[in-house]
Amino acid sequence: MRNQKENRRAKLPRGWRKIYRYALLELKKLDLPDSFRITAVHETDGSLTVEYRDAGDRETAVRKILSALKKQSASTCRDCGRQGRLCNLGGYSLTLCHRCFNKYYGDVSAGSSEAVYLAEKMKSWFRWYY
Ligand SMILES: [Zn+2]
Repeated sequence: MRNQKENRRAKLPRGWRKIYRYALLELKKLDLPDSFRITAVHETDGSLTVEYRDAGDRETAVRKILSALKKQSASTCRDCGRQGRLCNLGGYSLTLCHRCFNKYYGDVSAGSSEAVYLAEKMKSWFRWYY
């Protein structure tokens, strides 16, 4: 199992690249000050948080785009970009789809009965989707 702190520092999760790029395009349209910078991108409790500086008088618009991105990331699988849901894996939170959840579950320590229970629970969450 990889160290979770290392994961958090790693680059943007693959499944979120598309929505992140979309948010960047939206930001570009805002005609932001030249000094505007994205200073950090974090995966926090299953959603994507973007930190920035120098949005100038576009502060409200930037905040709106980035909070929409955060909200969207919370329902998008971080690994594949499908519809996802916040999952608790051995004490930490990741937004995953049913398939990626099962893939991850092999990596975390838990009793097998718990694994089966959680896999069934996930299926019911995604019933409308699959
Ligand atoms: Zn997935």
